[in-house]
Amino acid sequence: MQDICQATKELYPKLVNEAIRRTPKSRELYNQSVRVFPGGVTYRIRDFDPYPLFILRAHANRVVDVDGNVYTDYWMGHGALILGHANPSIVKTVSSQMEMGSHYGFEHPLAVKWGEVIKRNYKPVEMIRFTNSGTEANIYALRLARAYTGKRRVVKIKGGWHGSYNGLHVNVHPPFTGKPESPGILDEYGKYTLSVELNSIEEVRKVFKEYGDDVAAFVMEPVLGAGGGVPADKAFVEEVRRQCDRYGCVLVFDEVITGFRVGLNGGFGLLGVEPDLVVMGKVIGGGLPAGAFGGKSEIMRLLDHRSMVNHVFQGGTFTGNPLTASAGIATIKTLEDNPDLYEKLGRLHSMLDKRLSEVSEDYNIDIHVTGTTGITGIHFTRKKPGNATEVFKERYCEPLYKLLNLFMRNKGVLYIGESVAHLLPSTQHDEDDVSRFIELVSEFFSLVSKA
Ligand code: PMP
Repeated sequence: MQDICQATKELYPKLVNEAIRRTPKSRELYNQSVRVFPGGVTYRIRDFDPYPLFILRAHANRVVDVDGNVYTDYWMGHGALILGHANPSIVKTVSSQMEMGSHYGFEHPLAVKWGEVIKRNYKPVEMIRFTNSGTEANIYALRLARAYTGKRRVVKIKGGWHGSYNGLHVNVHPPFTGKPESPGILDEYGKYTLSVELNSIEEVRKVFKEYGDDVAAFVMEPVLGAGGGVPADKAFVEEVRRQCDRYGCVLVFDEVITGFRVGLNGGFGLLGVEPDLVVMGKVIGGGLPAGAFGGKSEIMRLLDHRSMVNHVFQGGTFTGNPLTASAGIATIKTLEDNPDLYEKLGRLHSMLDKRLSEVSEDYNIDIHVTGTTGITGIHFTRKKPGNATEVFKERYCEPLYKLLNLFMRNKGVLYIGESVAHLLPSTQHDEDDVSRFIELVSEFFSLVSKA
C-alpha cells in the first residue's frame, strides 16, 4: 500500500500536465473567473485541481467543455438530472411553459399537480410546500419541528450534509468538532445541534437518554450522500423511529438526493420506516431549482395561516413556480410510467459493486463499493465503511482519491469529487458506460501499480 501512495506522488504532476494540455480554454476562462468569483468558482465543490472545467453544453449523459472534450458525466447536475441532460421531453414541456409564463406569482394548477404527483408516490407526505432548494426545505422542516414540539435540539448524523443552514452546517466533515464549519456562523448556532454516528444504535440511545426531552427533530438521509454514499441500516432507522416516538421528536428524512432517485418512494420505500416529515430537492425539480418539505398533516397544518393565529412562516419569490413545476411533473411522470428505469439504475449499481470488487482482487488492493440504486460510493478503505468516520478514517492512501478523479477527467469521465468518490448516474447511462468506467479504474490501478 505504501508503494501505491508513493506512486501517486510521482504520477500526479504528469497527469496535471496532461489535464492542462487538454483544456487551454478552460484555463483561459479560469484566469478570467478568478477576477469575478472568489476562488474562481460559483461553488467550491465545482473546483478541481489544477482549475475547474468550464462546460459549454450537455446532452443525455454527456457534457462537453469549452475545449470540445466530451465527458461521460456521473455528477448529473448534482444528481438533479435523473433523466439526463436536456432530455427532449423535459425541454419540450419547459419550453411550452416558458411561452405561457415562467412565473405568475399567484397560485396556479401546475403547483397543485406537482404536489399531487409527489404525494401519490410518497405515502408519508400528506401535505407539502415547495421551496427553491434543499437547504431552504431543511430550514423550514426544522422550524416546523421546533414549533410542533416546543423543543430546541436537533440530532443529525455525522457526515450528513443538509445544505448550509447555520444549525445543520455542523459535523459534516471530520474531525466532527460539533462547531459550525464555516467562519461567520456563530458557535451559538451549533449549540442545539447534536450528532450521532450513522448506524450506531448505541449512540442513538445515548443521545435520547441524555437529551430526549429537548430533541425537536432527528434529521437523517436514508443513504448518506455527500458523506460517501453509505446506506442507513434498517435496524438503525427502526431504533431512531422508536426513540422519536418515545420522546415525541419529529423524524425528518432528508431525501434531497434519495427522493425519486433510489426509487419512486425514495429511501422511505427502501427502509420501510415512515418519517414524520420529509425534505426533497434535486430530482423533483426535473433539473430546475427546487425543494420541498412535507409530511403529516398534523405538523404541516402549523403553516396554515387561516386556522393558526400564529402560523409558522414559509414563503419566497420563486416558490412553487410553474416552470419548475412543469419540469418536475414531467420527470416524475416519466419515472412512474417506466419502472424499468429504476431496474436499470439498480443493475448499474450492482455491476459497479461486482466488477470493482474483481478489480480489487486483480490488483490486490482494497476497493469498497457502497450505495444502492442510483447512488454509488467508491472507497479506498481498509474495510467497507458503515458510517462517515470510517469513510475517512479507514483510508489507506488519501491521495488516491484526487489522482483517480484527475485520471478519469483526462480519460473523459467526470464525477464529484476529489475527496469523496460518488456516482449519481442517470437513466441515460447504460452498461457500456459503466463497463468503460470499470475498465478505466482497472487501467488506473495498472498504472499506479507499475509506477
Ligand atoms: N440535503 C442533502 C442530502 C443534499 O445532498 C443537499 C445538496 N447536495 C442539500 C440538502 C442541499 O440542497 P441544495 O443544494 O438544493 O440547497
